Amino acid sequence: MSQGIRRPHEAVDYEYLTRAYPPPPEYFEKAYLETPEEIEACQLARLKERALTAYSIPFHRKRWDAEGFDPRSLESLEDLWRAPFYTVDDIRKSIEEHPPLGDYQVARPEDARREPMRLYMSGGTTGNSRPTLYTQWDREVGAVLTARALYMQGIRPGDTVLNAWSYSTHNGAFSFDEALHRWLNCVILTTSTGTVTSSRRQIELALQYGAKAILTTGDYLLRLADVAQEMGVDPKNDLKLCALPNIGDRELLEATFGAPNYASYGFHEVQWVASECPARQGLHIFEDAFIVQVVHPETGERLPDGELGALVVTELYKTGSAQFRYNIMDLAYLMPRERCACGSWLRRMGPFSGRGDNMVKLRGVNVWPEALGEIVTLHERVSDDYFVRAIRSENHDEMIVAVTSSAPSSEFEGLRSELESLLKEKIGVRFEVEVHPLGALDALTEIHSSPKPKRFRDERGE
Ligand SMILES: [Zn+2]
Repeated sequence: MSQGIRRPHEAVDYEYLTRAYPPPPEYFEKAYLETPEEIEACQLARLKERALTAYSIPFHRKRWDAEGFDPRSLESLEDLWRAPFYTVDDIRKSIEEHPPLGDYQVARPEDARREPMRLYMSGGTTGNSRPTLYTQWDREVGAVLTARALYMQGIRPGDTVLNAWSYSTHNGAFSFDEALHRWLNCVILTTSTGTVTSSRRQIELALQYGAKAILTTGDYLLRLADVAQEMGVDPKNDLKLCALPNIGDRELLEATFGAPNYASYGFHEVQWVASECPARQGLHIFEDAFIVQVVHPETGERLPDGELGALVVTELYKTGSAQFRYNIMDLAYLMPRERCACGSWLRRMGPFSGRGDNMVKLRGVNVWPEALGEIVTLHERVSDDYFVRAIRSENHDEMIVAVTSSAPSSEFEGLRSELESLLKEKIGVRFEVEVHPLGALDALTEIHSSPKPKRFRDERGE
């Protein structure tokens, strides 16, 4: 130690870290195969500790005191249900009242002398993004979790990987970078997005260095396939990608590149939560680092396994800030704890199925924009792209579903009325449909800049 400054290896006990949160491949040899009793004993011990840390943070203590929840009363995993949850609105309020970091962080920027830190923002494009201070410990464990997910996707030590995510204020590109560099022993080419390194250059680099994967959105990867073809390069036989850790159209990605694509789930504040195994029977939750619960998106009531609801996530590993029963309002369902064909007892969840806070009550019917999107994009003449708006018209709420199509514009009118009938039939209420040429919704969906494209805008208050 010099002048009180602690370097990464002094701030983090790496031997302890790799025992507590094993990186791949050793994770899959032991921790991944633990019995339900072992998994839950580890969770309970960590949960009790997390509750005490969280209680020392004003954001949590205020709410728990008001609701009468005593963190020392946690004696079983079941007891976690007694703690109140919070949503992104509470986080936004905390930031407003205590700018710029809110009162939900433990770490302060001045602590960086004792432990190196990074500051990232959720979503790079909107004004009200949420800051998170990550300690060195948080970065390392987060990178281990990401490395596990990438390993499950097929990336192996020694592989060369292009990282075409945007190196920006957002955590995404750096999480992958740190996972590949520090915990998977891969060679990373930091190409960043197509505006930094042109699509042609990305293809050239992937070919020259035999890249095994290109990390980016599924949509941009498919765009790269088009560019490759224009260059006379076959995306499957010349590029030879072995892994597709890209979120997008699974069937099209697999058909185009000839490698398997597995679903995974994570978000800004807690990093990687779950990843699908080759059995494809749900996403295994990394339960040494998370407890995931599902509640009704409107009432907050506990939902049984198998029912779609809002995810409430408690992380068990962070030191920079605590996320304890964070109702992230992403929709998915939990499966009962059963042994998977891959041998793991880790609980599984269904894939991300939209946003709970996007629900609109339309003439008495609960409508989720993503459910509308699922119906219209199944139509053979409609692309995978859509955007839904809720508007107020003559004292009525209305929803407009915009889609894109490669059909000639003379066919748009027929397609529009066909889709309106289809939605009426499936949901039971009337929707207005707009048909646009391909690419017309890109600015609204932010499909080229956001890992989770935007699908909805509520214009009723405007
Ligand atoms: Zn499995």
